[in-house]
This record gives sequence, structure tokens and C-alpha cells, in this order.
Amino acid sequence: MGKIIAVANQKGGVGKTTTCVNLAASLAAARKKVLLIDLDPQGNATVGSGLRKDGHRYSGCEVLLDEVSIREAILSVEPAGYDLVPGNGDLTAAELKLMEASGREQRLRLQLARVRDEYDYILIDCPPSLNILTLNALVAAHGVLIPIQCEYYALEGLTALLNTIRRVQSRVNKELQIEGLLRTMFDPRNNLANQVGAQLIQHFKDQVYRTMIPRNVRLAEAPSHGLPALQYDRSSRGAIAYRALASEMIRRHQRSAA
Ligand code: ATP
Ligand code: MG
Repeated sequence: MGKIIAVANQKGGVGKTTTCVNLAASLAAARKKVLLIDLDPQGNATVGSGLRKDGHRYSGCEVLLDEVSIREAILSVEPAGYDLVPGNGDLTAAELKLMEASGREQRLRLQLARVRDEYDYILIDCPPSLNILTLNALVAAHGVLIPIQCEYYALEGLTALLNTIRRVQSRVNKELQIEGLLRTMFDPRNNLANQVGAQLIQHFKDQVYRTMIPRNVRLAEAPSHGLPALQYDRSSRGAIAYRALASEMIRRHQRSAA
């Protein structure tokens, strides 16, 4: 049964999408069956996976509005070897329509129930907001992976996210856990980054992934080629780091299942 992981942080530009695309590719390279859901109207995970934002029959919008079964919206991403439900600006329309809909937070959860047995991992790329789209992801997920850029304002906003997670846990989704905190765009020569990184460990202990994602230009270039870094430059430090993250994630899940 698939492990559903929401990649969320309402702070913008912290590496959510980069993490989704590269983790999806790395898990797929480790022979895991992966589905990536692009739940951000920006559609960056879709483009970063080499697909167009528009022109597909269905996107996450129709899925959330229950107009189609999620199965009909799934596309395959090659050569990386994972599946994707594309996202685009229509998700903003879905967000507005959902405001008045009944069971509006449960839509994704119910849709994913149809396919979760076919995947080892289902990753959800959330928008930079604690809106109804992100809420759908949190209600559907087993875990939340929180990318954090280690800078001065990094911890600001984390409290709001953690409070939202707690609220979802107590009201609708008891299964929800913090999958982990991930240090992204990490520069070990930067004192502040080291300080913030150490603070995170002190505070969140084992919840912080040991793997750190370095700042690496290949990770920033790869999306413009529509490829995960693993396919764009497999020996780049970014690609190697995301493969290490996938291994750490698989190890953690094997341990907790044992
Ligand atoms: P948003 O909140 O807008 O959805 P995000 O949290 O998804 O943003 P990304 O889009 O993954 O963040 O990253 C923001 C920018 O930083 C992008 O241009 C991306 O290419 C770049 N970037 C992300 N991670 C790294 C990294 N480790 N090294 C270098 N550049 C990176
Ligand atoms: Mg993004």
C-alpha cells in the first residue's frame, strides 16, 4: 500500500517542487512505483517533469472537483519512470469552487484511495500557501515532508505549518505524521546556514533528515530541460543528494515497518 507524502511549506521558493521531482525520479530509480501529484497552480512540477501544463485531457482540477477518476488524469513521465497528475492554473478555479463544496478537504484522499495500492510512494507538491489545496494534501497524506532553507527567516512560518498539521491530525487524519524536515539549498560554508541547521536538529531531532540538499546549479538548470537532475546530470552533487534522500527515506520506512 502506497505511502502518501505531502511536500509542504507555505513559504515560497524553499525547494518543494525541486524535492518532489528529484525525489520522484530517485525513488523510481530505486525501483519504487511512484506517483507525483502536482497540486500547485504554478504547475512547476509538471513542467519540471518535461510535460506541458496545458493540453492534457485532465489535470488535478477535474480530479479535485470529482469530475473524473484520478486514474484518467495520470500521465507517465519518461525517461524518469514515474507517473504524474499534472497541475496548472485550473487548480485556482478548483480552489474557488471547493470553497462552497461539501467534503471539500476530503477530495484528494478519496481519489487517492482508488490508486494507492498500485504505488509504493505518492508525493504531493503543494502550493506555497496553507489553502484548501494544501489542506487536501494534508488530509490525504500519511506524512508531511517539510523542505527548509536554512536562513534567518526559515523558522518563521514553521509554527503556522505545524499548527495546521496538528489541527488536521486531531480533526480528520489521525494517521498524519511529520515525515521529516529537509534542509535544502544548503551551503556548508555559510555560518548562518550551519547555525540554523544545528537548531533544527536540536529542536526536531530525528525528524530532521540527515541528508542535506546542497545548493547546486544543476538542480536549478534541470527544470528548463524538463528533466530531473538524475536524468540531466546524474553525477551532479544535486542528483547524488536526492538519491541519498530517497535511500534514507526507504531505510526509515523499512525500519518503522519492522
Ligand atoms: P514555490 O513555493 O514557488 O512552489 P518551491 O518551494 O517549490 O517554490 P522550488 O521551485 O523547488 O521551490 O525552488 C525555488 C528555486 O530555487 C527554483 O528556481 C529552483 O530551481 C531553485 N532551487 C531549488 N533547490 C535548489 C538547490 N538545491 N540548488 C540550487 N537551486 C535550487
Ligand atoms: Mg513549487
